Amino acid sequence: MTILLASAELEHFAKVGGLADISAALPIGWEKLGHDPIIVLPKYACISESDSITLIDMHIELSICSHTVHVYKSHIQHTMIPVYLLDCDELYKRPGIYGNPDGYVDNDLRFYVLCKAAFEIMIKLHISPDVISAHDYHTALLLPLLKLDYAHHPLFARTKGILTIHNAQYQGWYDKYRMQDISNWDFLNDSHESWFLFNNSFNALYAGINFSDAIVAVSPGYAKEVLTEQFGEGLEHVFQQYQYKLHGILNGVNYESWNPEKDEYLNKHFSADHLEGKYEGKQILIERSFSKNRHNDSLPLFGIVSRFTSQKGLDILDGCIEQFLHEETVSLIVLGSGDEIYQEYFTQLQKRFPTACSYTQGYDESLAHAILAYTDFFLMPSAFEPCGLTQIYAMNYGTIPIVRKVGGLKDTVLDFDSNPMNGNGLVFTDFSSEELAKCIRRAISCHADKQMMNILIQNAMQSHFPISATAEQFVKLFDSLRDTH
Ligand code: ADP
Repeated sequence: MTILLASAELEHFAKVGGLADISAALPIGWEKLGHDPIIVLPKYACISESDSITLIDMHIELSICSHTVHVYKSHIQHTMIPVYLLDCDELYKRPGIYGNPDGYVDNDLRFYVLCKAAFEIMIKLHISPDVISAHDYHTALLLPLLKLDYAHHPLFARTKGILTIHNAQYQGWYDKYRMQDISNWDFLNDSHESWFLFNNSFNALYAGINFSDAIVAVSPGYAKEVLTEQFGEGLEHVFQQYQYKLHGILNGVNYESWNPEKDEYLNKHFSADHLEGKYEGKQILIERSFSKNRHNDSLPLFGIVSRFTSQKGLDILDGCIEQFLHEETVSLIVLGSGDEIYQEYFTQLQKRFPTACSYTQGYDESLAHAILAYTDFFLMPSAFEPCGLTQIYAMNYGTIPIVRKVGGLKDTVLDFDSNPMNGNGLVFTDFSSEELAKCIRRAISCHADKQMMNILIQNAMQSHFPISATAEQFVKLFDSLRDTH
């Protein structure tokens, strides 16, 4: 099967969060199953040309503008899976991917061109994809393009379109008049209005949902949650209407990259049977993160690696973690960036507790791996979490996740107290600082009991969510759609 995947992010090329990890891991999983994935990605300023070749030049003609796109060909690291990079300075050569905090004003055009170019590349190369795999609102417009603009093109006549939703909070609300000019879809005048406009505004995710052959939410838990007002982000009735084509497939991990025995970002390696490297790594991480007059090194070490948004539950950390830092029962290492309010919060926290809290602002791949691998507990008190990958990575390194019972966290982390045989983390339910504090106290007690902590670590390290299982479920879904011709 030929599977065309277009995404706004791709690991080792351009990454903000888990979308990048999955956009790379899924094709690797598909290729191992004998399929032919093809990836299309914008060539952002952060992507170098060193390992790529120019392939084709093409013109994307729109009614309001035209763009010349040079297409480079590269590969996913350690594979021959092709990655077609769209080089178009005026659209993609910018410091960031999305233009935070409010997004670039022309994101409508930038992501529309990404989708359109994906089809044009297939035409230039005479490739007929069996499946088009769209991810989040950025590439959701692949689906109306498939069903309207390219429906009668022989290369796409049999192609099925699947929208995977990694986060329904981001929907791509665009100006409808500008979007009509960009796309030429006549939704302001004809019967397609209700396919594109939601609450009278253009909504890219909504359009993708309408035109998709199937929708995948990134965990079974999230597939149920989006049907509710609490998690549906205003689209709950739309998800309810399409429940017949809504599937929950749990994200998985490429354990080649996230492996404590050979992780290329780590200096100290270890395994479930030989944890010495984890403790040596912890010591080095502590020495790097704190000054000499730090807390006692034997305290339980907590880690956070996150995009800073209200989704990640940092609001309940505020007013909770201070008591533990104050009474010197934990140390905390934080890596992340995003909303100003949280950056400021952690900056102040570090100032207040310099011997117990270390904060690094920004994006740092090797520090992220070190925190996930070498801390004792990983904090993820999310308000909502479609799947979450970091808690799964943490478990594979024997770092115990402390999570709220929501979305994909609920599907991957089993509370140790309620399941002493196979519990792999600590779980709380209510979104409150008090509940989180109780969970942190439980973590401190576990840490004090070496035997119990060791069982927890072994349980966590035995919890596996391989990308092969995810890739297989997607393929089953693709097959079932292809049978419906
Ligand atoms: P989300 O996709 O909501 O951001 P996930 O847990 O699914 O959350 O995935 C986050 C991914 O981004 C992980 O690979 C994590 O290691 C990485 N990440 C998040 N913040 C940073 C950061 N500041 N520096 C490096 N990696 C980060």
